[in-house]
Amino acid sequence: MSTVEKLAILGAGPAGLTAAIYAARAFLAPLVFVGPSFGGQIATTTEVENFPGFPEGLQGPELSERMRTQAERFGARLIEETITRVDFSRRPFHLWSEAGEYQAQAVIIATGATPRKLGVPGEDAFIGRGVSYCATCDGFFFRDKEIVVVGGGDSAFQEALFLTKFGRRVRIVHRRDQFRAGATLQKRVMEHPKIELVRSTVVERILGNGKVERLELRSTQTEQRWTTEADGVFIFIGHEPNTQLFRGQLAMTDDGYLIVDNRLHTSVEGVFAAGEVHDNWFRQAITSAGFGCMAAMEAEKFLDH
Ligand SMILES: Cc1cc2nc3c(=O)[nH]c(=O)nc-3n(C[C@H](O)[C@H](O)[C@H](O)COP(=O)(O)OP(=O)(O)OC[C@H]3O[C@@H](n4cnc5c(N)ncnc54)[C@H](O)[C@@H]3O)c2cc1C
Repeated sequence: MSTVEKLAILGAGPAGLTAAIYAARAFLAPLVFVGPSFGGQIATTTEVENFPGFPEGLQGPELSERMRTQAERFGARLIEETITRVDFSRRPFHLWSEAGEYQAQAVIIATGATPRKLGVPGEDAFIGRGVSYCATCDGFFFRDKEIVVVGGGDSAFQEALFLTKFGRRVRIVHRRDQFRAGATLQKRVMEHPKIELVRSTVVERILGNGKVERLELRSTQTEQRWTTEADGVFIFIGHEPNTQLFRGQLAMTDDGYLIVDNRLHTSVEGVFAAGEVHDNWFRQAITSAGFGCMAAMEAEKFLDH
């Protein structure tokens, strides 16, 4: 039988790594399962200019490495394994990876979310070089530039309005003729002098030399294709919380986000959640890190009792 850990942390993005720093400094020696991507989403980007304490900005992977070093300095143990099954119906809680079985008295879930991708050529190659999934993070880099927003829901419309602060023009490209965004948002967008709507159109390819320069578009009605100038492509077609393995064990919203109280307790006592796995609103590295801190402090109190 495996030894019983005090605290297991699932995920090594800003939420999981911050939880690890706090828990390690409380002598909980947390075991951190890194999962499929060390550093999480922030490690996939180049320039991070809005994380406090780094006035010159820094690269996403460097921010993650710094968090790891800080967590390990105080005794956190990171292992490159992905949790594939959990049993939260008994204590200690049971967790399984491909490599084996683990037990823990408390668990922090920080498995994050994954922005839905278009899946077109050029998308992955230009992430951080013109392709973005976060207007708050990257809008600033596109002052007086040509911006294309992809999507037709509330997020796409809200973010398009925000991006008008920066771009000289913002075009919203949507595959359908109708938009899902709420009526008030639609009205604001349609009345905005900087925004143009491009309906019944999909992005086929993202093109450029080292950074995004053009998009190949296709009409879903006529099949006609054309190329258009673009410096930034902001893709807002949804996020998938990484919560499939908790189905049936923890309460979650219809779209799969974990339900937590205001101290980040999930529906099972002793299991906490931190970051984008429950937060589909702020979606920032700093807010996720803040949630990680909160979850670790609550886990420490839970274990103390
Ligand atoms: C391209 C891009 C650029 C961004 N730029 C900025 C920016 O400039 N500033 C900013 O503040 N925010 C930015 N963001 C948003 C920021 O990255 C996220 O808000 C933040 O990373 C969320 O942190 P998280 O820890 O909650 O989850 P994530 O970062 O999603 O991390 C999830 C972690 O969980 C792990 N995991 C998943 N499943 C399992 C499993 N089954 N078992 C174990 N581990 C698992 C993953 O491996 C990963 O380590 C950006 C996001 C993207 C996509």
